[in-house]
Amino acid sequence: MSKTDKSCETGRASNFLEQIVERDLAEGRVPGNKIVTRFPPEPNGFLHVGHATSICLNFGLAERYEGECNLRFDDTNPEKEEQVYIDAIREDVEWLGFKWAGNVRFASSYFDQFYEWALHLIREGKAYVDHQDAETMRENRGNFNKPGVETADRGKSVEENLVEFEKMRAGDYEEGKACLRAKIDLQSSNMNMRDPVLYRIRKVAHHQTGDKWCIYPSYDFAHGQEDAIEGVTHSICTLEFQDHRPLYEWFLENLPVPTRPTQYEFARTNLNYVVTSKRKLKRLVDEKLVSGWDDPRMPTVSGMRRRGYTPGSIRKFAEMVGISRTDGIADFSMLEHAIRDDLNTNAGRAMAVLNPLKVVITNLPEGETQNMMAPVHPNRPELGERSLPFTRELYIDRADFNEDNTLSRKKFKRLVSEEYIRLRGAYVIKHEETIKGESGEIVEIRCSYVPGTVGENPPEGVRPRGVIHWVSAEHGKKAELRIYDRLFNHEAPDRGDEDFLTHMNPESFKVTEAWVEPSLVNAEPEQGFQFEREGYFVADRYDHSAEKPVFNLTIGLKDTWAAKA
Ligand code: ATP
Ligand code: MG
Repeated sequence: MSKTDKSCETGRASNFLEQIVERDLAEGRVPGNKIVTRFPPEPNGFLHVGHATSICLNFGLAERYEGECNLRFDDTNPEKEEQVYIDAIREDVEWLGFKWAGNVRFASSYFDQFYEWALHLIREGKAYVDHQDAETMRENRGNFNKPGVETADRGKSVEENLVEFEKMRAGDYEEGKACLRAKIDLQSSNMNMRDPVLYRIRKVAHHQTGDKWCIYPSYDFAHGQEDAIEGVTHSICTLEFQDHRPLYEWFLENLPVPTRPTQYEFARTNLNYVVTSKRKLKRLVDEKLVSGWDDPRMPTVSGMRRRGYTPGSIRKFAEMVGISRTDGIADFSMLEHAIRDDLNTNAGRAMAVLNPLKVVITNLPEGETQNMMAPVHPNRPELGERSLPFTRELYIDRADFNEDNTLSRKKFKRLVSEEYIRLRGAYVIKHEETIKGESGEIVEIRCSYVPGTVGENPPEGVRPRGVIHWVSAEHGKKAELRIYDRLFNHEAPDRGDEDFLTHMNPESFKVTEAWVEPSLVNAEPEQGFQFEREGYFVADRYDHSAEKPVFNLTIGLKDTWAAKA
């Protein structure tokens, strides 16, 4: 479809922002008919699931309407910002499957321009250097019921202000002793318009600009101008910036900016059972309550990645929560549903036995291996087959055998004494004998296989109770399984009076071992599988190898939390 087809085609919009874009394109209001959006993270933490929805929104709009989306680091704040975050954010955006236009951008690369524009406002009599301390300034700014009070600095001349601002820039003032403010309206009912701060003194080096500056622009003085410099057409942010929009527009109105972006707001994505504030996520990391920002239990993009979420599942989740203008809380199970659904369709099947019970097949000679072939995926023959060696000694799960053969067939669809069960992808076997240890515990069971039952119905009188999974003891491999669950066991961990850490789920992580089928030795790091009857697992991104297989539980086969709630 060509660009003009797209821009003319209306009525496809699935949310209010798409409607706005379609309207703007249809009315010829977009320069070059090409929308430009941006995703502007502050590099002070890793991206989380909320950011992911914003990424999907901004890059998604650009994709859908054949525009462009910039990745811009909003690094106006010299502290807290680190290169590791920059690298992680770039990696996350790419992994999600998006491409930014041109190079990565940095707000800090526009500092010279912002400085020029600050001078411009001073020369126009629209900005002044204020020497009030923070406390007094807050007091004099008034509040919703009280108009602001004008102070002496507000009346100073352009010349005086130019001198004062130069002193700020030169480092003549200590932090907090002066700031540059816009001269707008101290009586405005919108507090953001009561002479907002444009520049503050921060005697801190910046990761991009080094020691060049000791004054830094405020978010408000930077954001709209960054958009204007980059030719952003639709600047989409979260609702808390709605009251900043008049200010965003005031700057564009009063500065010689090259283009005129428009700000639109949408509601943040909130999820129950998680915290998404970067400050709180950082606390989990700093206090070593998780293994790092990419701990598989973290709601960060890199954590979800390591947990086994796919880019497709996260994009799907973003689509499911949609775009709204009112705040709401999405259920965590939606995210889990998205990954379960994706893996059900795309993940190969494999067998892993977590609590092994040895089975000896008495009518198969020692040393004999019969190769069973099983599909990688039951509904997707194009994914090929895998080989399952069937040998005299096998493992099944302990929970799949019960001595008591009076158990009803309906309730216990597994193996009982002297009855039949089908081994997935292999023979029907019959229980013959149970071997016990000194204290009466079952150490091994002996069974015989029924010839001719691979992929065939069993003969008359042979009625397997069900199908269970198994692994050859001879060819199977030992693997480490990392069993994860939700990090918090409270629906709203950070919305009550208690510290959110009190709501951490003590059962969110345990390590266990399993016997896995030999084909899993070839698993690539980050490859996902359904371990039959156990859950969806992923080969760990960093620790998995053929010599030492390590799999992380991504998600169980069923939603156990819904049942609990
Ligand atoms: P946090 O509160 O987690 O620190 P932030 O808004 O300060 O988040 P930024 O790095 O400034 O983090 O966010 C980059 C972009 O992502 C912004 O445009 C912001 O509006 C958006 N964003 C952040 N959190 C969410 C969320 N929960 N849902 C949707 N968009 C979000
Ligand atoms: Mg922010």
